[in-house]
Amino acid sequence: MAQETSRDVGPVVLLGPPGAGKGTQAKRIMEKYMIPQISTGDILRHNVAQGTELGIQAKAIMARGELVPDELMYPMVRERLSRADCKRGYILDGFPRTAGQAGWLDALLEDKFFENSRPTRAWPIVIRLDVDYNQLLLRITGRRSCPTCGRIYNVHFQPPRTDELCDLDGTKLVTRNDDRLEVIQPRLKAYQEQTAPVADYYQRTGRLVAVNGDLPIDEVTQRIFRILEDHHG
Ligand code: ADP
Ligand code: ADP
Repeated sequence: MAQETSRDVGPVVLLGPPGAGKGTQAKRIMEKYMIPQISTGDILRHNVAQGTELGIQAKAIMARGELVPDELMYPMVRERLSRADCKRGYILDGFPRTAGQAGWLDALLEDKFFENSRPTRAWPIVIRLDVDYNQLLLRITGRRSCPTCGRIYNVHFQPPRTDELCDLDGTKLVTRNDDRLEVIQPRLKAYQEQTAPVADYYQRTGRLVAVNGDLPIDEVTQRIFRILEDHHG
């Protein structure tokens, strides 16, 4: 896949319910445009696995499928966005997840914009992946990931070559703790009630583009690349 490293891409926000394909697509955008994927879910899971103070506080909340409070999220996101690898742009996957978080992000970006005079695109382009409900359930229950490299698989749609082993490094694939049926329902509910309004927030400012996330993975990627080309071209 051709890489693009010359232009500033700016922030890209991927919105969509659990299982919509945000992580899968974020990794492809990252490879093409050489900008980092910032998955708040991955960062939180890493903290849980490491047993950090943040991880200890977030663990039970995540296991219930509820949202982690803003006072834990904001310092984590602010610190990550201030790193040097975000200068040309970045992909936010899993943040913002409430209208409040979207407003907070805009305020942060506005500050950054005035802080430095580089002509980096300040406002995010927001891509929402729309997926049929039953398809979401299959995607979430079939999801497996590699604990070593983070690659995402699906036993129904994107199986590894060898049963339950990562194609790239041979590590045994794992199922996320919150991808159990009893936790999926509260997560989808949290999406409907708290995250769906984020799309309205961005729609009002003309920054939202919806993509049919039911399509095969490569087709979704092509559509996203086209949107990013049009936006930055
Ligand atoms: P999915 O891939 O299913 O959309 P994520 O990996 O993004 O899920 O998030 C997993 C969990 O991490 C969420 O259910 C929530 O508990 C927590 N989380 C992730 N991002 C946020 C956020 N922006 N605000 C609050 N909680 C979050
Ligand atoms: P999210 O980050 O939005 O929760 P993921 O990228 O982890 O979603 O994808 C959820 C599951 O669905 C994974 O098992 C992935 O392999 C699979 N998947 C992602 N996109 C598609 C697609 N377009 N068609 C079929 N399966 C997909």
